[in-house]
Amino acid sequence: MFKLSKKLQLLPPYLFLEIDKAKRKARAQGRDIIDFGIGDPDQPTPKHIIDVLAQAANDPANHHYALDQGMPLLRRAIANWYKKRFNVELDPETEILPLIGSKEGIAHLPFAFLNTGDYSLVPDPCYPPYKGGTILAGGKPYLMPLESENDFLPDLKKIPLNILKKAKLMYLNYPNNPTSATAEKDFYQKTMGFARKNKIIIASDLAYSEMTYDGYRPSSILEIKEAKDTAIEFHSLSKTYNMAGWRVGWACGNKDLIWALAKVKSNVDSGIFSAIQLAGIAALEGNQEHVSNMCSLYQERRDILIEGLNSLGWQVRPPKATFYIWIKTPKGKDSIKFADFLLEKADIIVTPGVGFGKYGEGYIRMALTVPKERISTALERLKKIM
Ligand SMILES: *Cc1c(COP(=O)(O)O)cnc(C)c1O
Repeated sequence: MFKLSKKLQLLPPYLFLEIDKAKRKARAQGRDIIDFGIGDPDQPTPKHIIDVLAQAANDPANHHYALDQGMPLLRRAIANWYKKRFNVELDPETEILPLIGSKEGIAHLPFAFLNTGDYSLVPDPCYPPYKGGTILAGGKPYLMPLESENDFLPDLKKIPLNILKKAKLMYLNYPNNPTSATAEKDFYQKTMGFARKNKIIIASDLAYSEMTYDGYRPSSILEIKEAKDTAIEFHSLSKTYNMAGWRVGWACGNKDLIWALAKVKSNVDSGIFSAIQLAGIAALEGNQEHVSNMCSLYQERRDILIEGLNSLGWQVRPPKATFYIWIKTPKGKDSIKFADFLLEKADIIVTPGVGFGKYGEGYIRMALTVPKERISTALERLKKIM
């Protein structure tokens, strides 16, 4: 009876719904499923952060609508964190905008800058909201393939001129979900020059900057001189502090971009629960021991999984960051069929690469959100069927 809007019809199919269905069915059959599909930290939020929330939740002063632009104290904490972590100066008044999780900001940004038919340059495979936000805003995603021969960096030279003329926005995400690739300053430098020349906004998604191994330290694009002319960066507490369900992140960078995003948001939401903002401050300013413990935990899991997969002949390289392993399917098998095969034969869930875009075909993604013992069990099962 009710016809979906054209925009909604244009959204790519949400493949993960199908996977969830298959997973629920397998569980209902009583099978012992090992789930490498989940990009959500399996460990709890550190206690000192929860304690601040609990106390703040009991204070009626926090029960009102929060300020749209976020608490001044939270913006100050974010500025201090950026200064300490990246040596980047940010004005808490104009260059920082707290978000209800970075996803909403990432998806709302196109509403501020795209007119019907304008393009966003979107890496493929990618985190789905880059495409979703673009389409819902009436724009079109232009796919920049991320391929192994290019170290999963976009090849800017391949973007046609007629697309560039109508491109308003480019998304970047390093350390990358799903490929776990990383980018260095020379790449950001080059891309920044390209964006300035073509008057394109760069939206950098830095959700995984703290989830790193072997001493690797990712850069922020805002470290590049003059980045604030064209760039906005998105950050999140979800991965760094195991706070995915809390919904708190931020955007920072060029003040006109921040202002425009805030204007879109003032029409759709009314800020982040103040108690959660206070907990966010506690996360950024409190003891950071949790972060190194978290990295050690994932690193241990990474090493067990990589060694096991390589002993099966899979030829997987250990990622320097993120909790994802991006793996070529054997003999270039179809990623959905291979994921189905692993679920049917070994009760193992992985994410088919094509779920992140067509250039993800031929890969699967495994997330390190599974305890060591279970990883070992999964490896034993794989040995039997491969
Ligand atoms: C998990 C993730 C985020 C974080 O999203 P939140 O909305 O802040 O929880 C952002 N970008 C990417 C690529 C992610 O994988």
